Amino acid sequence: MPLVTDPTIIKKKSLRDLPLQKKRVLVRVDYNVPLDSNGRVSDDTRIRATLPTLEYLLRQKAKVILISHMGRPKGQINPKYSLKPLVEPLKILTRTSVYFADNCVGPMAFDAVAKIGEGEILLLENLRFHQEEEKGNSVFAKELASLADFFVQDAFGTVHRAHASTTQVPSYLESAAGSLLEKELKFLSALRANPPRPYTAILGGAKVSDKIGVVEAFLKKVDSLFIGGAMAYTFLKAKGFSIGDSLFEVESLEFCETVLSQAKEQHVEVILPLDHLIVQDIEKPESAQLTNDASIPDGWKGVDIGPKTLNVLRPKLEESKTIFWNGPVGIFEVGAYSKGTMEIAGMAASVAKKGTTVVVGGGDSVAAVEKAGVAQDMTFISTGGGASLEFLEGKDLPGIAALPSI
Ligand code: AMP
Repeated sequence: MPLVTDPTIIKKKSLRDLPLQKKRVLVRVDYNVPLDSNGRVSDDTRIRATLPTLEYLLRQKAKVILISHMGRPKGQINPKYSLKPLVEPLKILTRTSVYFADNCVGPMAFDAVAKIGEGEILLLENLRFHQEEEKGNSVFAKELASLADFFVQDAFGTVHRAHASTTQVPSYLESAAGSLLEKELKFLSALRANPPRPYTAILGGAKVSDKIGVVEAFLKKVDSLFIGGAMAYTFLKAKGFSIGDSLFEVESLEFCETVLSQAKEQHVEVILPLDHLIVQDIEKPESAQLTNDASIPDGWKGVDIGPKTLNVLRPKLEESKTIFWNGPVGIFEVGAYSKGTMEIAGMAASVAKKGTTVVVGGGDSVAAVEKAGVAQDMTFISTGGGASLEFLEGKDLPGIAALPSI
């Protein structure tokens, strides 16, 4: 079912609104991809996500200049974080010539730009080899901008950072959103506006403190909020349950108490795990046991949600018209502790197939839906973990604010 349109949905100038034919177009992408031990790209999802923009530009016979970051080289040249390994996969996926320049600014970049043909691609070396990138330096941004005629922002995963290539480049070049950014804005701003109800959010992951803003925002937006993963234990402690040796954030206890009382006032149902898979030693999954209820005995740690919890969640997801999911509900990287997360992925996929809008928000939940083999069934999978949460919190993300609206 399509999401409702709402006047508050953010609309930015699109790359289709610019006269890009045969022009030099600087495109900010998020190619922060994982590499295997041989230095080859082990997951090309982020490259594939930019194909609609790249294919459009190549059809326009534009000269495409790609800029990205990779890892955290902290302003130093470090071959470990070179973007060079992306050249081959890019050639295969775009079926055009892809060149590489060892620097994203300066004479090397200029010379390389002068050699690109129409309908060809040049990938420039990691922006973060220059400390000016993360500092949002305007002189560096001007240098980047001087390489091209237009700028297209397609790196949704980095628009929550005020860096030179996200907030400064649009001051020096006529700019627009790429197809990936447009798609992210369409789905995420519909969630922020007025999604079809009932609306259920599933939040998991390691820390309450990372998700304070989004929990507060969801209290104003959703009908039901399920909290799983290590986050849940601080909430359970706030409700007076024993949580054994499970992860716990004493500094977030007061916040959890406030959330639980505000949820009651605002008629939001907060669902916490009713049972758990517990272990004494995380390294020994063979000794794992299920609890009968929400309490965890001393000496034991929660590592996943249990079957009673899944039985409560199932009908909740089946009756929902909109679902947002961020964060695994257990240590899903370990097969023995992944059942809860895999089951949620399966339940979300099956309701999505029946027409419920299911949006998966970045990071580990994307890895989880891929591991469960159901990624293709979801309505939308955001490419930005931190960016999608900050957007749903209602924040004005600097890289989006820097682009012209329509
Ligand atoms: P986040 O980046 O906040 O989404 O957290 C993801 C991490 O939370 C994953 O690496 C999970 O292994 C971890 N996690 C989920 N549930 C638990 C748990 N019960 N105990 C410890 N870590 C957990």
